[in-house]
Amino acid sequence: MSSSVRNLFTVASFLLFFVIISVFFAPRVLRAQPSKPNFQWPIEGFDLAALITSTFGESRKDHFHNGLDISSVLQPVHSLADGYVLYSRYAEDNPFEEERGSGNIVWLAHDQGYISGYYHLAGSRHENIRTKQNVKSGDIIGLSGNTGHSSGGHLHFVLGKDYGKVLLDPMSHLPKMDDIMPPQIANLFIHVGEKFTNINDGDNINVSKAFPLTVSIFDGGMKNSQRRGIRDLEIIFNGETIKKTNFDSLLFDNGKWKTSNGYSFEDLFFKDRYLVGLVNLKAGENLVKIATGDFNNQRSERTFSINVTRTSTRE
Ligand SMILES: [Zn+2]
Repeated sequence: MSSSVRNLFTVASFLLFFVIISVFFAPRVLRAQPSKPNFQWPIEGFDLAALITSTFGESRKDHFHNGLDISSVLQPVHSLADGYVLYSRYAEDNPFEEERGSGNIVWLAHDQGYISGYYHLAGSRHENIRTKQNVKSGDIIGLSGNTGHSSGGHLHFVLGKDYGKVLLDPMSHLPKMDDIMPPQIANLFIHVGEKFTNINDGDNINVSKAFPLTVSIFDGGMKNSQRRGIRDLEIIFNGETIKKTNFDSLLFDNGKWKTSNGYSFEDLFFKDRYLVGLVNLKAGENLVKIATGDFNNQRSERTFSINVTRTSTRE
């Protein structure tokens, strides 16, 4: 092949390359939708990961924890994204009314139906909320505090979609945060009435009927004392999956908040622990396997073997 023919080939293949690139990408650019807001963390700090004390979807006695807690006192709280002020309520607005659980609160609306809420704020309404209708991503919207139902200064913040019908795990939507400890599957318990007993792997127990079993699981985050919630949970009883859910989002469905897998709070928690279920232990060996992951998708698994003697019910 002569060099001029070869050059022609090179030019032709370049042209073809550009034609293919244009065909593939041009329509996407033309059809570009307004993109999802670019969320940023509401509190600044290099050690933020160590200050996250509670995560989304944890148990709060009788309901899901619907946001994320950052330990913080009198620090500037920033808007998660560009948006406008949807609502704000400060104790100073109603000095004679009892303080609400959320304390001083600000709600912002963002593109595509996203909303964000900031709870327990300190003092008075910030100038940016008092005087402006619109906020930019990162604008200060208040100071972290300890107002309302809060033990110790912290920011509780909430991320929602569909104007609040869906609540989201902020960890999945904000810039990635360090989490070095995998979840720790600590103890299995059997509840008989108001009492509960720890069951160790290999224990022998006598039961007359089905009792609720619970399991304590903590995610250390950066250190074990953080004791955060988990991202997903699967419970396998005697080889059969009896429960499988993630905690990525909560949807309001028939008057109840449910995970996207359809589980309500009562399905997943009992006495502040993860509920294995009201399982019918058979005589002989029973296996309870727990599989879970954290916000960094670090996985943990543990199987408890329980040797059961069935006793007759005397009622
Ligand atoms: Zn909280």
